[in-house]
Amino acid sequence: MAGYRYIAFLLIICFSETVTASEKIVVQLKWINQFQFAGYYAALEKGFYKEAGLDVILRPNGYNGSFVSPVDAVVSGDAQFGISNSGLVLDYLNGKPVVALAATLQHSAVSWLVLEKSGIRSIHDMVNKRLMTVFPLSESLELLEPFRAEGIDPKKLHLTQTIFDLQPLIDGKIDAYDAYVTNEPFLLEQKGIPYRIIDPRTYGIDFYGDVLFTSQAELQNNPERVEAFRKASMDGWRYAMAHPDEIIDLIVNKYAPQKNREHLRFEARAMWNLMQPDIIEIGHMNPGRWLRIAEIMTEHNRIIDDKILDSFIYTPDNYQQNLLRYLQIATITSVIALLLAGIASWIYRTNRRLVREIAARQSAEEQLRHLSETDALTGLANRRAFDQQLNKEFQRYLRYRHPFCVVMVDIDWFKHINDTYGHPAGDHVLTEFAWRLRDHIRKTDVLARIGGEEFAILMPETSPLEAKKRTEALQKCINNAPFQLGNSADSPLMMTASFGISCVADNDLVAEASLIRADTALYKAKNSGRNQVILFN
Ligand code: GH3
Ligand code: MG
Ligand code: MG
Repeated sequence: MAGYRYIAFLLIICFSETVTASEKIVVQLKWINQFQFAGYYAALEKGFYKEAGLDVILRPNGYNGSFVSPVDAVVSGDAQFGISNSGLVLDYLNGKPVVALAATLQHSAVSWLVLEKSGIRSIHDMVNKRLMTVFPLSESLELLEPFRAEGIDPKKLHLTQTIFDLQPLIDGKIDAYDAYVTNEPFLLEQKGIPYRIIDPRTYGIDFYGDVLFTSQAELQNNPERVEAFRKASMDGWRYAMAHPDEIIDLIVNKYAPQKNREHLRFEARAMWNLMQPDIIEIGHMNPGRWLRIAEIMTEHNRIIDDKILDSFIYTPDNYQQNLLRYLQIATITSVIALLLAGIASWIYRTNRRLVREIAARQSAEEQLRHLSETDALTGLANRRAFDQQLNKEFQRYLRYRHPFCVVMVDIDWFKHINDTYGHPAGDHVLTEFAWRLRDHIRKTDVLARIGGEEFAILMPETSPLEAKKRTEALQKCINNAPFQLGNSADSPLMMTASFGISCVADNDLVAEASLIRADTALYKAKNSGRNQVILFN
C-alpha cells in the first residue's frame, strides 16, 4: 500500500514538474490579429520562442467590442507581456509598475482621418467640427496635443466616442476620425473615397507607436525570460519585415481569415514607414525621447528628475553584460600593460646596473692587474711583469731567432745613502735613478725594478755590441749628474751604478738563462771596482 502511495507521489512530482516546464507565457496584444503584430507571429511560427525555451500564447484583443487593457492584464499577472503605445509612460508615472521593453513603431500610427471633400487641411480647420476619437482621452493624447500646441481652446473641440466604424465619416455625420494610418485609409481607398491624413507629427508631436512591455515583477523574478522573450520577438520582427508576404499568408491562413491580403499588404507598407527597419534597429528606444513624451503627456510639466524613467526603460542584459565584459577587458588590458611596463622598467634598470657593475669590475680588475705588475715606489714594471716580458721575448727568439739582450743594474754603495741620509732620501734617489734610466731607454725596451736597488732592462732586436754601447750611455746618464736627496739642506750627491749584460744564446733552454749570465757579469763589474759595464762572454 505504502509502495503505491510512493509511486503516486512520484507521479504528482513529475506531473507538477511538467506543468512548470510547459507554463505558458501570455502576450496581451492591443488589438485584433493583423499585420500590426507580424513580428510576434513570426517569432512563434519560425520557432524563435521555442528555441528560447518559451511557450508563447498571443492573445488578441477588441473582438466583439470587448477590450482588455494590456496594461491591466500585465500588471495583474494575467499576461506576462503586452503591447501598448506611448501612453505606457503615463501609466508608469501614475504608478503602474510597467517596463517598456521595445518600441517597435518608431512613430505613432494614430492620425486624424478626414474626407478630402470636407475641405479640412489642418487642425485649425477642425475647430468646432465633430471629431470621433477614443475615450478615455488619455488614449487620444497625441491627437489632442496638436490643438494645445497651436493654442486652440479645447472647449472648441466637439469630441465623440468612437464606434470603431468609418461609416459616420463616410456619411458626413462626423468630420474627422481617429484612425490608424496602417488601417482605415485602406478601407476608404477600396471604396474610392478620397481622404486626407492630418498627422500630429506635422505639429511636432512625435510619439512612439506600438511598445512591447512587461511588469516590474516579471522583470525582477524572471530577468532571463524577459531578455529571451524580447530578443526572440525582435528576431521575429526582423524576419517579418524581411518576408512580409510569407507572414501575410500566415496571418490569413491562421490568425485573421477575415482580412484580405491586399489590406494586410497596405498595413505592412504603412508599418515599414513607421518602423524604418532599414535605418533604425527594431525596438530601439531613446530615453530623451521618452522623457519628452512623458512631459507632453503630463500636460507639459517639465520633468526635472531625468532619472525618473530609469526603471521604466528596459536596458537589455546583454548590453550590461557587454559593458561589463568591456570593462573587464579594459581592466585586464590595463593590468597587463602596467605589468609589462613594470617588467620593462625593471629589465632596463637591472641592465643599466649590470652595465655599471661590469664596467666597475673591469676597471677594478684592470687596476689590480696594473698593481700586480707595477712597482709602487718608482711606477716601473716589477719583477713579475719583467719575467713575463722576458719569457715572451724568449719564445719569439725560439721561433724567429730575433736576438735580444738583458742588462742587470745595481746602484753602487746604496746602503751608504740610507745609513747617512735616511730611508726617505734613499727612496728619493731610487726614484730619480729609475726615471733617468726610463728616460734614456728605447720605447721598445722593458725596464723593471726587480729588487731593492736593482733594475733590469730587456733590449729586443739588439746585438751584444749595440747593447754594450747603449748601456754605456745609460752609465753616463747616471754618473755625470748629481742626485737630489729630497731634503734641500743636503747637497746633491754623485752616484754610480754597475751594469752586467748578456745576450740570449743558441743553447739557452729557459728565459732566465740570459738573466743569470747578466747577473754574473754584474757581479764581475762590482768586483772590478764598480761604475763598470761588463758584457758576459
Ligand atoms: P754594493 O755597491 O755592493 O751594491 O753596495 P750596496 O750598499 O748598494 O749593497 P747592499 O746590497 O749591501 O745594500 C742595498 C741596500 O739597499 C740595502 C737596503 O737597505 C737598501 N734598500 C733596499 N730597498 C730599498 C728601498 O726600497 N728604499 C730604500 N731607501 N733603501 C732600500
Ligand atoms: Mg744590491
Ligand atoms: Mg747596490
